[in-house]
Amino acid sequence: MAKIFCVANQKGGVGKTTTTVNLAAGLAKLDQRVLLVDLDPQGNATMGAGINKAKLTASIYEVLLGMSDVTTAKLRSESGRFDVLPANRELAGAEVEMVSLENRDKRLREALAKVDADYDFILIDCPPALSLLTLNGLCAAHGVIIPMQCEYYALEGLSDLANTIKKVSANLNPDLKIVGLLRVMFDPRMTLSQQVSDQLEQHFGDKVFKTLIPRNVRLAEAPSYGIPGVVFDPASKGAQAYIAFGAEMVERIKQLEK
Ligand code: ADP
Ligand code: MG
Repeated sequence: MAKIFCVANQKGGVGKTTTTVNLAAGLAKLDQRVLLVDLDPQGNATMGAGINKAKLTASIYEVLLGMSDVTTAKLRSESGRFDVLPANRELAGAEVEMVSLENRDKRLREALAKVDADYDFILIDCPPALSLLTLNGLCAAHGVIIPMQCEYYALEGLSDLANTIKKVSANLNPDLKIVGLLRVMFDPRMTLSQQVSDQLEQHFGDKVFKTLIPRNVRLAEAPSYGIPGVVFDPASKGAQAYIAFGAEMVERIKQLEK
């Protein structure tokens, strides 16, 4: 049975996609069988995994609307050594088209249930909104990973996301938990980064992952080659951090299971 995680934060540009792609490749390096689900119409995770979003014959859009299934629509990231359920801008239409469908918030959950046995991890890259697409991600997952930058406004959006997660777990998916907050694009030379990071640790204790992801230009360059950062330049500080994060996730899951 796969462990399913959403990488979510309703803000854009906070490192969701970078985290999803690099965690997927990091876990693959640890010999885990991984499916990356791109739930964002921008298709950045799809491209970052080396798949051309303009040339898809089937995508998550068809899967959510019941016109295809995961086994048919999935593709392989050769560089990352994981499978991808790809997305492109067609997916934006699903948001509207799903509204009238039965079980509209559980479409992804139902689709993933059929491939559950084929993977150790399923990682869902959410769009930057608390939309019906994100709700599908939250209903399908066991846990949420929240990447955040250590800046003043980071904490503001966090309570909205935490409330949404609480509501989903109370009404739709009792399995759902926040697995942890991941500090990304961290710059130790900035006093503010350090202060916000300390505040996070005070408020959220061990819900804050120990691994810190630094700001690292190699992570930002990798997507333009369609190669995950941890594969593109494994020795870089950013890659090393994501590999350490993969190991921390594996460890944390063992603790959750106890
Ligand atoms: P989101 O999916 O939340 O919108 P992205 O993962 O696409 O965020 O990241 C936004 C931008 O920041 C991208 O250009 C990405 O390459 C860059 N980026 C993300 N994480 C890092 C990092 N640790 N160091 C440097 N650049 C990063
Ligand atoms: Mg993204």
